[in-house]
Amino acid sequence: MTFAANTINVQSSRLPFGAQYDGRFKGKHILSVSQFDVHDLAYIFDVAEEFRMLVRRIGVMDLLKGYILANLFYEPSTRTSSSFIAAMQRLGGTVIPINEVRYSSVSKGESLPDTVRTLECYADVIVLRHPEVGSAALAAQYARKPIINAGDGIGEHPTQALLDLFTILQERGRIDGLTVTMLGDLKYGRTVHSLAKLLALFRVRLIYVSPKALEMPAELVDALRARGVCQESHTQLEEVLPETDVLYVTRIQQERFADQQEYEQLKDVYSITPQVLRAAKPDLTLMHPLPRLSEISMAVDSDPRAAYFRQMEYGLYVRMALLALVLGKA
Ligand code: ASP
Repeated sequence: MTFAANTINVQSSRLPFGAQYDGRFKGKHILSVSQFDVHDLAYIFDVAEEFRMLVRRIGVMDLLKGYILANLFYEPSTRTSSSFIAAMQRLGGTVIPINEVRYSSVSKGESLPDTVRTLECYADVIVLRHPEVGSAALAAQYARKPIINAGDGIGEHPTQALLDLFTILQERGRIDGLTVTMLGDLKYGRTVHSLAKLLALFRVRLIYVSPKALEMPAELVDALRARGVCQESHTQLEEVLPETDVLYVTRIQQERFADQQEYEQLKDVYSITPQVLRAAKPDLTLMHPLPRLSEISMAVDSDPRAAYFRQMEYGLYVRMALLALVLGKA
C-alpha cells in the first residue's frame, strides 16, 4: 500500500526503498505531532510499510547493526516500551532498557538533563517516557542525540498518534471524509491530544464524547477551531455512534486523578459491548491505545471491527521507521 497521492493527498509517488529519502529526520528529535506536515506523514508511513513487508519476509534486518537505543521509562509501559525494543532489535540494533528508574541514579535525585547527558554517551537515540508535560522538550535541550517522546504526562504521545493514523490508513485506506469519535478521558488522555492534532491536517469531522469533567482541553479545541477543524462535543455515545467511522476509545486514567472518589464515579461511565455495537456502522473501525479496563468488553474482541490488536502491531512498524529515520538509515 502506498500512502502518498491517493490516500493523504501528497503530490508525490511512492519513494523507492533506500533510494530517494532526503534524510529530513536525521538527527532530529520527535517531540510533538505539531512538527509534522502531510508530506512528513507520507514519508514516515512509506518507510513503515516497507518495514511491515520486510518483517513478514525476513523478520530481522541489520540496518541498525552497531546502533544502541536507550529506552528510558519513568512511567509504566507495556506496548510502547516493548515495541521500541522489538523495533530496534528487528533492525539489528541493541537496547539499554531503563524501566525501573528506582534502580537507577534517578532514585538518588539525578536530574533529567544529567540522566540524558549520561545515556547519550552510551546510546545513539533515547526514547523517553516521563510523567511531566514538556519533559521530552526539556531533555532535547540538553541532548546531542535524538530524543523520541514516548509520552510526557498528560501532554503528548506523538509515536502513538503516528501509529494510530497509520492504523486508520491501513484499515480504511484514507483519512479525508471520515468521522472520528474519541471517547472517554479526553482531559488527561495524551493519545487523543496528539491524535486530534494530527487529524487536523486532514478533512475530518472530530466528535468528542466524555463526561463533562473529562472534556478535551479548551486550548486544544480552540486551536483546532482556529484552523477550521469541524469538532463537536457530547456526553452520550448513542447520539453519535451511528454516524461514526472510527471510534477511538480511551481508558479513564486513575493515576491522573487527584481525587480518587471522582475516579470511582467516572471509571465505568462508558462500556462498549456487542449490544452497543449493534448501533454502529458495519465497517466501523474500533480502536484503543490500550491498556483497556472495563471500557471495551472482551466479548467485543472477536468482532472484525475491533482493530486494537492490529493497531498495536502497526506500532512496531511505525517505531521501526522512526528509529531508522532519526538515525539517518532509512
Ligand atoms: N498507553 C497509553 C498511554 O501511555 C494509553 C493509556 O495509558 O491509557 O498514554
